[in-house]
Amino acid sequence: LFAGPVDFLKGVVAMSGLPAADRAEVCFAGRSNVGKSSLINALTGRKAIARASNTPGRTQEINFFTLGESHYLVDLPGYGFANAPLPKVEAWQRLLKQYLSGRPNLRRAFVLIDARHGIKAVDEEIMSLLDSSAVTFQCVLTKADKLKAGEREKVLDQVRGKLVKHPAAFPELVLTSSEKGEGIATLRAIVATLE
Ligand code: GDP
Repeated sequence: LFAGPVDFLKGVVAMSGLPAADRAEVCFAGRSNVGKSSLINALTGRKAIARASNTPGRTQEINFFTLGESHYLVDLPGYGFANAPLPKVEAWQRLLKQYLSGRPNLRRAFVLIDARHGIKAVDEEIMSLLDSSAVTFQCVLTKADKLKAGEREKVLDQVRGKLVKHPAAFPELVLTSSEKGEGIATLRAIVATLE
């Protein structure tokens, strides 16, 4: 699907460090522990490619991966870090806003939501930021394997209900399990079609 190397490219701490906007780009956002690294690993087919972005010191960086020659995949740091010192949080939020509003090749953000918990207040914050930055975003539910059959429709309904308020939300949801491989091919195909 992605011709060429799938690899970690670089971690970026300032806008000046961004790679050239010479190809389509998608970014992944989600609260810490939502399963973002696992999803990126599953999506790229590389077992531990996204581990780098979870190591301390890397967590405040915007991490770039190549999906062949055609796309960049961007791993945004996990949010909801209540313990981080305020100046760090502010610096990170500034960079995030600059990135979201100033990246011409950014085609879509994927906002990861833990399927067991649905959309929480911290998720609404990033969605509002995406609204105001005019970045189309699509919700990806993670850890679907932890849901019982009857719970699937319930969480999908909760998420759909909350997305109505967000003008930048793409209505279609993707239910995934990195553990079971569910939804991964679908997500990969969605990324590939974003040119
Ligand atoms: P991150 O902090 O968002 O990068 O989250 P990780 O990918 O490190 O995952 C956080 C925890 O959730 C780990 O214990 C993973 O093993 C677990 N996890 C991630 N994806 C899945 C999944 O699809 N199913 C299940 N059952 N657990 C998962």
